[in-house]
Amino acid sequence: MAQTLLPVPIFSFPEHLLGKKDRSVSDHPESGTLSLFKDMNNLPPNLTDLPVIESCDGCGACCMQTAVPPYIVINGQHEALLNDVPADLVDEIMPYWEIRFQLPERSCMWFDEQRKGCKHYEYRPKACRNFEINSSSCLAIRDKWEIEG
Ligand code: SF4
Ligand code: SF4
Repeated sequence: MAQTLLPVPIFSFPEHLLGKKDRSVSDHPESGTLSLFKDMNNLPPNLTDLPVIESCDGCGACCMQTAVPPYIVINGQHEALLNDVPADLVDEIMPYWEIRFQLPERSCMWFDEQRKGCKHYEYRPKACRNFEINSSSCLAIRDKWEIEG
């Protein structure tokens, strides 16, 4: 399959969409903790205008930032293998996971566009489990994709 290789990391947030300089992105984009702003009480107006929401139903914006499930390597072992992800799913993602930092930004291969949810929710990576609704990162991504809630 032909691939378009671009130097775009997953979870990239263009500066003009963020509108603030004091963001605190974790040292590694796969750390599972992505904090864009140190101070939740000092967010840019475009983010504070967004409503606090009760559920992720109909959103899925955070799944539109990474082309492949954002598994990490833990003590030399792939997170998917540590979490007993079925072999067919591991085989499916691995060729893309290997080149994840070269892939252009697009929705995750496990993202169900119709349902706006994860096709393999029970096997989703730690980074996805830790992504908090109404967090600064959630607000920034919803703002980017113009999804209020
Ligand atoms: S961006 Fe926020 S509201 Fe939307 S799916 Fe992710 S955590 Fe839920
Ligand atoms: S929750 Fe599922 S679809 Fe969304 S980024 Fe994680 S693995 Fe991909």
